[in-house]
Amino acid sequence: MVTYEEFSVRAAAVEARIAAACHAAGRPPGEVRLLAVTKTHPADAARFAARHGLSAVGENRVQEAAAKRSELAAELPALRWELIGHLQSNKAGLAAATFDCIQSVDSEKLARRLDAAAGELGKTLAVLLQVNAGRDPAKFGAEIEDAPRLLEAALACPHLRVEGLMTIAPLGAHETETAEHARRTFANLREMRDDFRTRHGVSLPELSMGMSGDLEIAIAAGSTCLRVGTALFGGRG
Ligand SMILES: *Cc1c(COP(=O)(O)O)cnc(C)c1O
Repeated sequence: MVTYEEFSVRAAAVEARIAAACHAAGRPPGEVRLLAVTKTHPADAARFAARHGLSAVGENRVQEAAAKRSELAAELPALRWELIGHLQSNKAGLAAATFDCIQSVDSEKLARRLDAAAGELGKTLAVLLQVNAGRDPAKFGAEIEDAPRLLEAALACPHLRVEGLMTIAPLGAHETETAEHARRTFANLREMRDDFRTRHGVSLPELSMGMSGDLEIAIAAGSTCLRVGTALFGGRG
């Protein structure tokens, strides 16, 4: 785990990359938010993110996030916690209680379980629909063909607020191929969002795409949320 000083240098470098990519794409930097991915790191990672002025952290496991969130509840009450990892529907209750946003809703069953859990908690839960927009057999996410039905099911859930779409780009055999996969995956997600807007009259403002290695490509494709771990905190061992 890096020190706060190391983290600050890394965060400034990531922010400079974001600013340059926004400039190149002709987009205002305020359109793109940086989600600090603190998974596997101790609670200090979330402290560093908050101290740097970031408003949200991303985690991929429910129990790990619940433990960190309760450790930091008194100290950082305003920090937002977002789930970016696969969620089994039997953990929907704890997930709905722990997270401010669930970016990884990938099935109708999960959407309905989260809706019921949010209803019991008396809250409206922000969600993103995760789509396997790169058709990667190794990735979670609804298949492209199933996404319209997932959207309809999620929009019918009274305790869910569907804010947009999320995807992870497949790795390629080498750097050029990985970049090409990322470009195609992100363009697919953007196109799907634009299509949903037209067909369903929903705005779906959030496009969560881009990580440490492909954030420039994601910004060029219209990302509004970059999920960055390694570039901020170093390797996860
Ligand atoms: C771990 C993870 C990230 C962060 O990846 P880095 O390459 O470390 O920036 C982003 N999104 C998801 C879904 C992840 O699981």
